[in-house]
Amino acid sequence: MPAVPPLLKHFDLLVIGGGSGGLATARRAAEFGVKAVVVEEARWGGTCVNVGCVPKKIMYNAAMHADMLPNYKDYGFTVEKRKFDWSHIQKTRDDYILKLNGIYDSNLDKAKVEKVLGHASFNADRTIKVGERTLSADHILIATGGKAVIPDIPGAQHGITSDGFFDLKELPKKTVVVGAGYIAVELSGIFASLGSDTNMFIRHDKVLRNFDCGISDLVTENLAKGGVRVHKQTNVKKVEKESNGSLTITTDNGNTIKDVNCLLWAIGRVPNTDIGLQSVGVELDSKGNVKVDEYQNTTAEKIYALGDVCGKALLTPVAIAAGRRLAHRVFNKETGLKLDYSNIPTVVFSHPPTGTVGLTEEEAEKKFGKDNLKIYTSNFTPMYYAVTEHKGKCFMKLICALPDEKVVGLHMVGQGCDEMLQGFSVAVKMGATKKQFDETVAIHPTSSEELVTMR
Ligand code: FAD
Ligand code: NDP
Repeated sequence: MPAVPPLLKHFDLLVIGGGSGGLATARRAAEFGVKAVVVEEARWGGTCVNVGCVPKKIMYNAAMHADMLPNYKDYGFTVEKRKFDWSHIQKTRDDYILKLNGIYDSNLDKAKVEKVLGHASFNADRTIKVGERTLSADHILIATGGKAVIPDIPGAQHGITSDGFFDLKELPKKTVVVGAGYIAVELSGIFASLGSDTNMFIRHDKVLRNFDCGISDLVTENLAKGGVRVHKQTNVKKVEKESNGSLTITTDNGNTIKDVNCLLWAIGRVPNTDIGLQSVGVELDSKGNVKVDEYQNTTAEKIYALGDVCGKALLTPVAIAAGRRLAHRVFNKETGLKLDYSNIPTVVFSHPPTGTVGLTEEEAEKKFGKDNLKIYTSNFTPMYYAVTEHKGKCFMKLICALPDEKVVGLHMVGQGCDEMLQGFSVAVKMGATKKQFDETVAIHPTSSEELVTMR
């Protein structure tokens, strides 16, 4: 008897990965009457919804409450006890995410996008294998995202990554976070604010080294002020698990840190590309990311890629924006449409938060020359701290290119800077000059008024 051929179903668009970029593309394409399918191997919503932005922001919000508690008495409130129940916020957070998973699922139904659960990979004939099923499509999008790196160090497997952070059942008593980027800064801050004895191991002297120097200096300083012990020039040499379950970590500068309850690796992410890409001619770049042109075309015809799997600006709104533009270009005849990757605003949820858009001072110097820049900075104490014993600072920097003082970089760290950034990034994206900033009447009393009154 001949073998029964696997079920073949054909679509206009097949998306591999039901995360930020994949879902946005499929839903937008479906609006144009496209027959689309999304294949997802885990949970709808991808990294952002399940183990990224959303649960992180909820934990950050919890930590911000903890940061504010000491100030309550200064505003006249009596707070009896500082007690924090991790399991409470874990449950309400996870319930919220389950609800979001359901909303994403039903949004696909409403949009008439077909859903397939399972691991997708390419067959050499460009069809897609998902378990026993075979699917095909005129257009295929790779939106498989990435995963956290675990270093090749003896005992490294005893540590967790940001995924494991969201599985923690209680606040660890003593924590070590390794890394110096977004995730290390954000999760160290959360641990410390909520009361864990937090240690951060960084390879150099500052965190966020790719950010403007004003930001990296201040965020490093603020971590220490917020209770994080920042161990500079420190690399992990080995990790040992003790009989009581705690970890002992030995570093390359000869130090040993004992009784660690949680070791978290936050040293970067790598793309999910192990899906038979070579067999269909999709090439990777030197760092292993899917190679795409500015229109998200891969090296194989009618196969596209976007989001974290391309390794550029690993942010949810970037994946979504690239996906929507791709859908408009391919399925709505908007031929020239593509995402402009310049001036992407971004926030690091540090304590207090960091907001940045445009060029760093170093980048601006390279582009325009030091003598062709005018830089404005401001350091001040936001009015919130006027009556509090604990003081916080706000730092702002505008980098302006001469002769017309076009604002080419805007960087800030301070209370409220996360929410302040979006509006100002519109101005920067539009090419506003310092004069135009100054022509905007200030809003008083706020911290953001400083951005339109700097001298
Ligand atoms: P993902 O959202 O990762 O989606 C990829 C999907 O593909 C996943 O669901 C995966 O299961 C699925 N998949 C992979 N391989 C296959 C396969 N072979 N078959 C089927 N399915 C597959 N960004 C922000 O803008 N703001 C933030 O505050 C923020 N916080 C973050 C915090 C953390 C801890 C992390 C890790 C990331 C954070 N990010 C944040 C980054 C953001 O989550 C990502 O940039 C975004 O999710 C990328 O979207 P994507 O569609 O490219 O990939
Ligand atoms: P990042 O790339 O931001 O930072 C990782 C950092 O870890 C590196 O910059 C490096 O800093 C350090 N590092 C690298 N290798 C090692 C090593 N072997 N040992 C010690 N330190 C090392 O990666 P993340 O994992 O923090 O985050 C991934 C991406 O996710 C981010 O780039 C961001 O795009 C996105 N994200 C966005 C968030 C947001 O929008 N708020 C929040 C979280 C993530 P150095 O060279 O200085 O040592």
